[in-house]
Amino acid sequence: MTGAKFLKEKTRSLYKGDGPRSLVSTSLQSASNNLSVCWTIEEWIQWRQSASEIKRYVLSNLDILLEQFIEQLESKGVKVICAKDADEANKKILEIINQHNAKLAVKGKSMVSEEIDLNHFLESNGITSCETDLGEFIVQLSGTRPSHIVTPALHLSASEIGKLFEEKLGESNSAGHEELTKIARRQLRSKFISSEIGFSGVNFGIAETGTLCICENEGNIGLSTSSPKVHIAMMGIEKLLPRLVDLPLFLNMLARMGTGQRLTSYTHFVNGPAAGTELYVVLVDNGRTRALADSEFSEILKCIRCGLCMNNCPVFRQVGGWAYGWIYPGPLGIVLTSEMLGIETAWELPFACSLCGACGSICPVKIDLNHLILKQRRNVIEKNTHGRKLTETIMWKIFSFGARHQYVFKTMMFFVRLGIRIAPYLPFKFGKLKAWMDGRELPKRNK
Ligand code: SF4
Repeated sequence: MTGAKFLKEKTRSLYKGDGPRSLVSTSLQSASNNLSVCWTIEEWIQWRQSASEIKRYVLSNLDILLEQFIEQLESKGVKVICAKDADEANKKILEIINQHNAKLAVKGKSMVSEEIDLNHFLESNGITSCETDLGEFIVQLSGTRPSHIVTPALHLSASEIGKLFEEKLGESNSAGHEELTKIARRQLRSKFISSEIGFSGVNFGIAETGTLCICENEGNIGLSTSSPKVHIAMMGIEKLLPRLVDLPLFLNMLARMGTGQRLTSYTHFVNGPAAGTELYVVLVDNGRTRALADSEFSEILKCIRCGLCMNNCPVFRQVGGWAYGWIYPGPLGIVLTSEMLGIETAWELPFACSLCGACGSICPVKIDLNHLILKQRRNVIEKNTHGRKLTETIMWKIFSFGARHQYVFKTMMFFVRLGIRIAPYLPFKFGKLKAWMDGRELPKRNK
């Protein structure tokens, strides 16, 4: 089955009966009624409410909106490609590149491309895909992957980047921000000029008009999408907005929550291919319809990828983005990864959470992240996805008993304290205790 057919049938089948349509709580009109009064930061509560309701509407009508969006795009001469998974998306993108006999592509930041691991796939097929977002450029040079969805090289200091540039590009070592930016600019300029393919993500796709809206701060997306003759835009199927009038609210929310700006430095509106160029839009499912079918967790698809939940997450701030094992870190990653890859694969993630609730209270589209995480924990335990061992069950039973009886609890704590004191002096460590202690230093005893 082709990707387009799969996507159509899959989304249509989801909406038989009540399905995700029951998600919508108000009409689109009443959701956007708030918009006319909400142009100062004091109206934050209304912004969130409107944004949440509009995204709910999108999820409730994704089948209709997708068809409308595709029709609009095709009427403008855009070639639309639908891919049900990463494999299909990569293969179809490779076909386009081969049709144009291209060997070099420049790429703006796109989380979908990270999801499908596009760069590695192209590299294994002899095509160079050069990241042009500064953070992504640094991460690609270092041979690692982004640690944050908005600021990919957040984990590196300026001096580490200077050393990387010296080692990989033969540039003089510098820790000056301006100098580092100039080096990247110099390195990338020739790539923009000579590349035949330009990749980008899409922040919002407007169903009503078939417009692609792409936000950025560096100007690299403008160059990546206008300099090469072929532009390939990759987009998750949930990134739709019904109407153009809904967009200002989301542009405002995305920039403020993502980077603390009123608006990103550049906002591109792509309405079809420019003369003499070709435009492809690759609509990627890759687990999204699976998430949409799960009524308990489908609201995670409201996410606009602002990154605010991870900035506010005390666990993310300690462990960084890589610890979450896949592309999406932080509270968003916990829920989305479990939905897209399946809780059987990502069963550990819901436990990487302190349940402080900071994420749910600030999410601009009102995703109830902390409660979704709690429900995922319940699912992991109920489904016993990780083959819970008898020892673990006994341990939790003991803890549960102790937590309900204060004298037992105090005695347990006495032994824990004793254990912490003697553990550093143990000549041997075993099993999980060894793995745990290898990565940690226990506090020294106070003299
Ligand atoms: S879940 Fe909410 S806060 Fe987190 S990235 Fe998505 S929209 Fe932003």
